[in-house]
Amino acid sequence: MSARRLLLLGPPGAGKGTQAQGLVDSLGIPQVSTGDMLRAAVAAGSEVGQQAKAFMDAGKLVTDEIVIGVAEERLRQDDAKDGFILDGFPRTVAQAEALDGLLEKLGVALERCVAMTVDEDELVGRLLKRAEIEGRADDNEASIRVRMKEYREKTEPLVDYYRQRGVLAEVSGEGTIEAVAQRIQNALA
Ligand code: ADP
Repeated sequence: MSARRLLLLGPPGAGKGTQAQGLVDSLGIPQVSTGDMLRAAVAAGSEVGQQAKAFMDAGKLVTDEIVIGVAEERLRQDDAKDGFILDGFPRTVAQAEALDGLLEKLGVALERCVAMTVDEDELVGRLLKRAEIEGRADDNEASIRVRMKEYREKTEPLVDYYRQRGVLAEVSGEGTIEAVAQRIQNALA
């Protein structure tokens, strides 16, 4: 049996979104991507979107308060009852603690945190390539540098956080998409 309450953790460009999509198909559980939800909010011009946009464009993390609200609302929806793949949330210790509190309220627990590791030069190369293809507003060199720094300072501590909780699996995110997917499947078994 595969674990079904999952978190994909890793720096920008590690391939979390790609691998999350593969898991949606193989496990039939939803991907919960705060990045995607925030981009949709920006596109819709909602209050959350208006508050988040400047942070996102600069490569800075959006405030915990905004993101926790967005994630909680999503995780309370019916289709996340039997499992979910968190992608891009939590990104700070405060967010991780909020997630713990919410899951406890819902009577469930996170079963696995897959931490994806990729060499930093490779990450920057991938993001610059994505910039050419997708034209995402935050895929420029200045923003990429800020996002890497934000990751190291605020998100990387979560690797230890989940190691201490006994749910951490570290997986190399280098190589083909299929090779990485296989490693993740092994880590979930
Ligand atoms: P990437 O995969 O390149 O790291 P995402 O698509 O996950 O980026 O997120 C894009 C931007 O959205 C982040 O740089 C940040 O501004 C905002 N964001 C997404 N998730 C969070 C979060 N959990 N906490 C704070 N900000 C977030």
